[in-house]
Amino acid sequence: MGNTRVYNFSAGPSMLPLEVLERAGAEITNYHGSGMSVMEMSHRSKVYDKIFQDTKALFRTLFHVPDNYHVLFLQGGASTQFSMVPLNLIGMTGKADYAVTGNFSNIAYKEAKKYGTINLAASSEDKNHTYIPAQEQLKLDPEASYFHYCANNTIYGTEWQYVPDTGKVPLVCDMSSDFLSRVVDVSKYGIIYGGAQKNLAPAGLTIAIVRDDLLGHELPYTPMMLGYKLMADKDSMYNTPPCWCIYLLGLVLEWLQSKGGVEGMEKIKHAKAQLLYDVLDDSKLFTCAAEKGSRSDMNVTFRTADPELDAKFVAEATDAGFVNLKGHRNVGGMRASIYNAMPTEGVEKLADFIKAFDQNNG
Ligand SMILES: *Cc1c(COP(=O)(O)O)cnc(C)c1O
Repeated sequence: MGNTRVYNFSAGPSMLPLEVLERAGAEITNYHGSGMSVMEMSHRSKVYDKIFQDTKALFRTLFHVPDNYHVLFLQGGASTQFSMVPLNLIGMTGKADYAVTGNFSNIAYKEAKKYGTINLAASSEDKNHTYIPAQEQLKLDPEASYFHYCANNTIYGTEWQYVPDTGKVPLVCDMSSDFLSRVVDVSKYGIIYGGAQKNLAPAGLTIAIVRDDLLGHELPYTPMMLGYKLMADKDSMYNTPPCWCIYLLGLVLEWLQSKGGVEGMEKIKHAKAQLLYDVLDDSKLFTCAAEKGSRSDMNVTFRTADPELDAKFVAEATDAGFVNLKGHRNVGGMRASIYNAMPTEGVEKLADFIKAFDQNNG
């Protein structure tokens, strides 16, 4: 470990833009002449309130959140949303639809079963989650309180390339690992949520975007802290919010804005991923885990035919400054997570490294 920063391909927590870290560092002991760190401020103080409101407003602007949606800053990770969603919504009809396309959507599905009748609307388990089911394959229940899916499967490296059409049934989507990487028509959704530590901020903050009419349907035994309505009524300040993470989110959003916003990210993210997929498809040694047409622009999963060669790749890549490329144990092989903060240059260099490894070991 030296003084240079590495290209960090971690799935999460993951890279943050260098400019953001440097600014946070410069402001860490004395935020804007307040004489204290953001970490030391009352969440009810005037100076913090401005950070909070500005961050929320900028999030709404960049993600194009319509007025009839609340933006909530919560804790407990995306995993707590796996409970919060059914607790707050399933009371509407007692039933819900779930698409299981990977690890996290499967956890969400199993958790929801505690609270009502859950219909498995689609599953890609038959092929170890290497694909996304097509619209025609969804078995939809028109009486479902909502339809839950995960937009990007962080572990398997697949991503929905379409927004499911569920008629009047509200869409609920886990966007933890592709949040703000592409333009989303929020009005098609009932709820969008995600943990911040993949694409937006340090771990400790969860963002939920909740449509107005979905508030106030919580089951009677819903823990106070898990009710969307209370959090919406109190503007996410019923108790102490994750102040520092929200401040960091604000810095990331300003950085994002300077790069052309979500539209700017969308323009480059597919090209970034395609650099890797092209090299992998042209190689002799490597195959991609995800089927074409379902491949993720955020998490590129690949492997050789030999686990020992995979280990050699990971070790040599680490020595060359490309770290955290080992795949998740459910998939094996390698995974390159290339979220918003990963510069194109880092992806280009990794593509060159893959090409060289293929030539030297083929
Ligand atoms: C990481 C991740 C989660 C789990 O997030 P936590 O914040 O650790 O609870 C859930 N869903 C997706 C898609 C993820 O990538």
